[in-house]
Amino acid sequence: MDLSYTAEELAFRDEVRAFLAEKLPKDMSDKVRRGENLGKEGHELWHSILNNQGWLSYSWPKEFGGAEWNAVQRHIFDDECAAAYAPRIVPFGLSMLAPVLHKFGSKEQQDHYLPRILDGTDWWCQGYSEPGAGSDLASLKTKAVRDGDHYVVNGQKTWTTLGQYADWIFCLVRTDPDAKQQEGISFLLIDMNTPGIEVRPIVLLDGTPEVNEVFFDNVRVPVENLVGEENKGWTYAKYLLTHERTGIAGVGFSRAGLDALKRVARVETANGRPLIENPLFAARIAQVEIDLMAMSTTNLRIISQASAGQAPGVESSMLKVKGTIIRQEINDMMRRAVGPYAMPFASETVEGDNDPIGPDYAGPVSAQYFNNRKLSIFGGSNEIQRGIIAKVKMGG
Ligand SMILES: Cc1cc2nc3c(=O)[nH]c(=O)nc-3n(C[C@H](O)[C@H](O)[C@H](O)COP(=O)(O)OP(=O)(O)OC[C@H]3O[C@@H](n4cnc5c(N)ncnc54)[C@H](O)[C@@H]3O)c2cc1C
Repeated sequence: MDLSYTAEELAFRDEVRAFLAEKLPKDMSDKVRRGENLGKEGHELWHSILNNQGWLSYSWPKEFGGAEWNAVQRHIFDDECAAAYAPRIVPFGLSMLAPVLHKFGSKEQQDHYLPRILDGTDWWCQGYSEPGAGSDLASLKTKAVRDGDHYVVNGQKTWTTLGQYADWIFCLVRTDPDAKQQEGISFLLIDMNTPGIEVRPIVLLDGTPEVNEVFFDNVRVPVENLVGEENKGWTYAKYLLTHERTGIAGVGFSRAGLDALKRVARVETANGRPLIENPLFAARIAQVEIDLMAMSTTNLRIISQASAGQAPGVESSMLKVKGTIIRQEINDMMRRAVGPYAMPFASETVEGDNDPIGPDYAGPVSAQYFNNRKLSIFGGSNEIQRGIIAKVKMGG
């Protein structure tokens, strides 16, 4: 196994770097670096810049207008974007729904929805989780009953990320209440402007309404919005989740976070000396850096296997657990590094409306710390991932 980049891959990395240097707006990367929210317009702008370059659809097959990059190219791109403080690509339409439509959607659905994902006409959100159906997703209860050429949907979804921006939601619904849990589920595409839908914000620990509850009260959905076959939705749902967990290690984000932490630890002081010279703090930084290097190598090993045609298995669970622990540890150290300056006006500074008390890098630190508690919950909680690792690797 060769973990070093080929000459072609290095040339690709240079191309990405040149693109980011030229096309990533400075005010946008400043916002990302400071941990501020970009809002819908900011995300849409970044998507359109990437789309103009033909790179928004980097993981899509060529037949659907994608760049069809291999695993190494995607890794290089993600790493370079994180290092340049580019916004993350909002995944719901692009890398969750689109692969499902590529594989299971009808020709009409592909022709209609895919171009609208790329040009930003439709913002999608994910309607999987419900109260009582998170880790145990197959126990979901939102039901869809056939009535002529429509389904009538009733129930509730929750934790719907950025649902307040969404034009459409892809939903798992129960279409056969008598079948075994996994067998009575279907995958429906629902227009968020349909009468009977109500979106209610949930304010997270960081003070922002990033997630929502979505209620369905006799919502009529045309039958042509069913993806694939009725009652086969679980197959499509699982396929989507394999894409949700791709890249979840967040190596690039951790590297950028660690660089920022070191910069701050050189400026902030403890007992009159730079924090980075404090033996306890320096040891913590060293430990997380070692963990990150080890994980980065594991990540490259998995990418190398993937480019040789092997699908990642339990390794993606390992990356998820380790990657999220590292990111949360960096957030925690950053919060400690800025001390009391982490607190004032946390949510307001994230919105960029107020100047923080203290240095500008301190304002969003607490908000990031609290917000990133989510990392070990979504995409399959870390406890669930540990269960998978135990079962596969230890036969538990
Ligand atoms: C910020 C955020 C954004 C999200 N965005 C979306 C979204 O856009 N769309 C969407 O559909 N969902 C979304 N989710 C939901 C997310 O997928 C669920 O929160 C997650 O699957 C966990 O489910 P739960 O919250 O119901 O917790 P539960 O499943 O009730 O789990 C509670 C606790 O018990 C543990 N636990 C549960 N079962 C086991 C087990 N078998 N073994 C060991 N431990 C176990 C869990 O790890 C957890 O600590 C989001 C969640 C968050 C926090």
